[in-house]
Amino acid sequence: MLPAVEKLLVIQDRDLKIRAIQRELDQLPLEEQDAREKLADEQAAVDRAKKAIQENEVAMKNLELDIKTRQDSIAKLKVQQFETRKNEDFRAMGVEIERYGREVSEFEDRELELMEKAEELKKGLAEISAAHAKTKSIVDEEISDIGQRRENLEAERRELEAKRRESAAQVDPEVLDVYNRLSQSKGGLVVVALEDGQCKGCHMKVVKSTAVSVKAEKELTHCENCGRMLYWWTEE
Ligand SMILES: [Zn+2]
Repeated sequence: MLPAVEKLLVIQDRDLKIRAIQRELDQLPLEEQDAREKLADEQAAVDRAKKAIQENEVAMKNLELDIKTRQDSIAKLKVQQFETRKNEDFRAMGVEIERYGREVSEFEDRELELMEKAEELKKGLAEISAAHAKTKSIVDEEISDIGQRRENLEAERRELEAKRRESAAQVDPEVLDVYNRLSQSKGGLVVVALEDGQCKGCHMKVVKSTAVSVKAEKELTHCENCGRMLYWWTEE
């Protein structure tokens, strides 16, 4: 194998690893976002549960006010009833008092229902809050894990980049330049095997003269189809 090819293969191996690390790093913000969204949904559920409790409390207060108004009216009517001398008025007031009384008991029934509902809502909120707290601790852990992975990956990348610089310093700058440009345009494998006359980069058969040149291993030879650098490879 040509020494230049050997060195380029080392560089390529590091480049591929650096690329893989970069892809993983690029993925991390999305993972963080996913984790936070899980929490946001549950936070919204907690907020909704709290709002439902508040609305229920307001409804209960309104009912209490309604009951109080009716009870005041009943008390007033009873005084008036006591003071009146006309039977007709007395009876009319009695009808009113009865009507208000019925309303009061209707409102009290409804208030009881709302009180039961308040219990249910509070139980629901406690359950949702507990689930939220549990998720939060899981999410916090996930986020901290992601941060740890980021640190590890960045350290690994720095190490590979340093090694890559070392390897690159040993390669003819012109050859390195060609490799770098190909690496940019192909985005991955640039130095590939020629196996059974086929370029392992583009999977096309190369012409005979190319194959001969690759096998001779006297100079760097490119695939005429895709431009990648070729090295000879046989099963044996
Ligand atoms: Zn090719």
